[in-house]
Amino acid sequence: MDVAFFSAALGVIVAAMRTALVIDDRFQAHDPGPGHPESPARIRAILDALAQYQRSGLVRLDPRPATVDELALVHAPSHIAHVAATAGRPRYAFDADTPTSARSFDTALLAAGGYLALVEAIMAGEVENGFAFVRPPGHHAEPDRAMGFCLFNNVAIAARHLQQRFGIRRVLIVDWDVHHGNGTQDAFFADPDVLYVSTHQYPFYPGTGAATEVGAGAGAGRTLNVPFPAGCGDDEYIAAFTDVIVPIAAQFRPEFVLVSAGFDAHRRDPLAAMTVTDEGFRAMARLLVRLAEQHADGRLAAILEGGYDLRALQTAIPAVLDEFGGVPTGAALASPQPRPGVLDATRAAQRPFWDVH
Ligand SMILES: [Zn+2]
Repeated sequence: MDVAFFSAALGVIVAAMRTALVIDDRFQAHDPGPGHPESPARIRAILDALAQYQRSGLVRLDPRPATVDELALVHAPSHIAHVAATAGRPRYAFDADTPTSARSFDTALLAAGGYLALVEAIMAGEVENGFAFVRPPGHHAEPDRAMGFCLFNNVAIAARHLQQRFGIRRVLIVDWDVHHGNGTQDAFFADPDVLYVSTHQYPFYPGTGAATEVGAGAGAGRTLNVPFPAGCGDDEYIAAFTDVIVPIAAQFRPEFVLVSAGFDAHRRDPLAAMTVTDEGFRAMARLLVRLAEQHADGRLAAILEGGYDLRALQTAIPAVLDEFGGVPTGAALASPQPRPGVLDATRAAQRPFWDVH
């Protein structure tokens, strides 16, 4: 076998999956003011990291603004009008954490629409998976209220868009941001076709996310909360994924996997008190890629939520993108050694609905 043929054959074996990246300078235009942790510098830091990051199969995808009708898949008309009314105003505040600037509304439309462009590219078969690096984030935004740095709930809008435009029925949303995604949970609390999964520090902002919050009515058993005490890290997160989240998600059989990917559970993050490393994020990404391959034809789309240490964003995101490429790099999954009992409340709450060990 000559060298060229061997290289070509090897190339087929290790060919990276095609991954779309949504990122744009315009995501810096939402300015919550000096000293706010959800700063435009986050996008600049990610742009700088991606400029250094190379692997085959990466595709840059331009965002588009979401339409009002698309926002209305999740949000009340009064809420959409409330956010729209901030356009052009130098400063407005929905609450103490959630100020806006003149271009916040436009930027929020681009954030929601950027994620829609990503799931559309995946449904069209142009790429297998992708990551939308947008701001403002979304998972705290309620159907009728902005809060917690979030104006519109990007991930919830994408889930509804997949169902209504593409006929996807069962959507899995995995939210590994360190905060509980109260807005996403509320949007789907009574919905049997969207499984919302959240790992988060608890008790912590926004106060919701107890293990006993499992959904209601037809949605009972379709909310899976994994609350962790402060100080948890890779062992607890990986154990939660391998022992509880992946087994339940496999029983749910998602047709599309959405990830609310915050990086504020990282050990370097200034707002929270978890100790997840880059390798922990790599492991979680690897498990979700596998899950998507087994149940959803590989369809997987992540969106940036929180994550306030710029260096942590620059090191954890490439680890996740390696896994989205399906190229074996970095450490294999270790056997996690979680704190005893840390998953007991979640297991007990989910046992009525799923086969849980
Ligand atoms: Zn967060």
